[in-house]
This record gives sequence, C-alpha cells and structure tokens, in this order.
Amino acid sequence: AAKAEGRNNYRFFLPSMHERVKERKTIEEDLRNALEYDQLELYYQPKIDCRTERVVGAEALVRWHHPDRGLILPGEFISVAEECGLINRLGAWVMNKACQQTQIWRETTLPGLRIAVNLSPAQFQDAELVRSVTKIMDQTRLPDGTLELEITESILMNNPEKAVSTLNELKALGVRIAIDDFGTGYSSLNYLKRFPVSSIKIDRSFVNDIHVDMDDKAIVDAVIGLGHSLNLEVVAEGVEEVEQHEYLRDKGCDFIQGFLFAKPLPAATFESWVLERHGTEQARVAVKS
Ligand code: C2E
Ligand code: MG
Ligand code: MG
Ligand code: MG
Repeated sequence: AAKAEGRNNYRFFLPSMHERVKERKTIEEDLRNALEYDQLELYYQPKIDCRTERVVGAEALVRWHHPDRGLILPGEFISVAEECGLINRLGAWVMNKACQQTQIWRETTLPGLRIAVNLSPAQFQDAELVRSVTKIMDQTRLPDGTLELEITESILMNNPEKAVSTLNELKALGVRIAIDDFGTGYSSLNYLKRFPVSSIKIDRSFVNDIHVDMDDKAIVDAVIGLGHSLNLEVVAEGVEEVEQHEYLRDKGCDFIQGFLFAKPLPAATFESWVLERHGTEQARVAVKS
C-alpha cells in the first residue's frame, strides 16, 4: 500500500511531459509577442574598477515585462528563445538597444562608458552576427574597445577554427571579447592563447566563498595570475561582501561586478546611480575609455 501511495505522490508532484511541453509552447508564443510588442527591457549592472571603485562600464542584461506574469529573468526565457529560433532576433534587439543607449550616454552624461553584451552559443554560430555588429558599429560609431561581447567557453570548443575566424572579424571591428563564467566550462587553457580574447570573468561560484574557502581562494588567485600573465583583464562577478572586494583588490583583480555595488538597474536608474556616485563633472573624467 505504501508503495502504491508513493507512486501516486510521485506522479502528483512531477509535472507531466505534456504539461512541460505545453508550458514551453506558451512561453514561446508569448516571447514572439514580447519582441513584437516591445515587452523587453535592458537593465545595466555597473562594472567597477576594483582599486579606485569607479564605474568603468556596464553589462546589459535583458528583462521581460510579461503582461500577466510580470518581470521575468533571462534564466527563464533565453534557453527557450534558443530552442525555438528566436534568439537571433532577441539578440539583435539587445545589441542594438545596448549600443544605442551607450552612444547616447557617451554623448551626454557618461562619456567614457564601456558596454558589455552577452552572446549565446546560437548567436555566435549565426552567419549574420558579424554583419549585424558591423552595421551597429557603423551607426553608433562607438570607439574601439567600447563594445565587449561576453561569450562562454563552450562556444570556443564546438568549432575552434570557425570561432577563431569569427572572433578575429569581431576584433577587427574594435570589439573586445570576454569569457563569461570562466572556470565553469571545458576550461582548456590552451584556447586563451589561441583565441583573441581580451578579458575573463571569474564565475560567481568561485567568488562566493572566496573569503572563507581555501580552494576558492586558490582558484581565484590562479585565474588572476593566469589572466595577467596572458595580458588579459580580469573581472570578478557576484561580489556581495566587502571582504570579497578587499580580497580581490589585494590580489590585483581589475574589475568587479556585484550586488555589493549595485544590482542590474533600468537605464534611467543606472545613469542617476553613476552620476550620484561620482558627481556629474567627475563622471566625465572618471569613466575610463
Ligand atoms: P551572466 O552574463 O553571467 O550575468 C550575471 C548574472 O548574475 C545576472 O543575472 C546578474 O543579475 C547576476 N548577478 C550580478 N551580480 C550578482 C551578485 O552579486 N549576486 C548574485 N547572486 N547575482 C548577481 P541575470 O540578469 O538573471 O542573467 C542571467 C544570465 O542570463 C546571464 O548570466 C547571461 O548568461 C544570460 N543573459 C542575460 N541577458 C542576456 C542577453 O541579453 N542575451 C543573452 N544571450 N543572454 C543573456
Ligand atoms: Mg555576462
Ligand atoms: Mg557570468
Ligand atoms: Mg551566465
């Protein structure tokens, strides 16, 4: 009897395959509308110079204002967008929006601001990628080094030859490449030498316990050393505690992002946050180009 009951419980708690497929379908349909009816918004998380604590740039992170479900985070819809072939449209929207906003900021209140945009694997494989980045760089005239694309390690392993040529084309456009979530992927260190990468972002999971866990300390120390000896900028993500910031600063980490400074913020809030932090005039000189 207990066994039968257990089985029933199991069936009760686990959503059926059918339910899950149906839910995906609903998200997929809603996502088409999101693109059509302007329900996406970019939030911006400050990137801070670890030593001077000045803002040097922002990472654009997409948000979805769903008409019934409210604010939805990318963790819930990026993978759906990839599976149903909407990622390239979504990605193009993100890239355009982020670059246009950055151009406006650079011409007004935040002259030296840099911008980072996330690229998913499907976007990286898209034959149109280089062409659409060329177009947006022409339109916005962002100086070399202003736009940074964040990719993950897996992108490089799939088809290394193709990846090298795509990255070189992007580099020729003045675009920088960052390896996001560094250390969580395949981590063949060889690719850091072979690929035209300009920075690495240490994953949040290593930063979390940096001030208490000896293993995480060792990993972070090694990544900072490796990055610097290869002439790469090193960024740490997910900094929430003062102790984490202090540790990273003492180890020579270049930049940090995290809730300790700010969560990702809507454009207007981001702008006033930076101006309030630095003062209007200071923001002009502080922000690095
Ligand atoms: P990611 O690129 O590694 O972005 C960092 C994530 O960590 C963001 O989550 C950010 O809000 C969060 N975060 C930042 N600081 C802290 C912290 O101190 N503590 C904690 N707990 N979290 C922190 P978000 O915005 O939910 O994005 C999740 C992932 O979705 C991103 O990871 C990125 O891979 C993807 N994503 C976001 N926007 C886009 C986009 O426009 N295009 C593509 N292709 N992917 C995107
Ligand atoms: Mg990122
Ligand atoms: Mg990351
Ligand atoms: Mg990520």
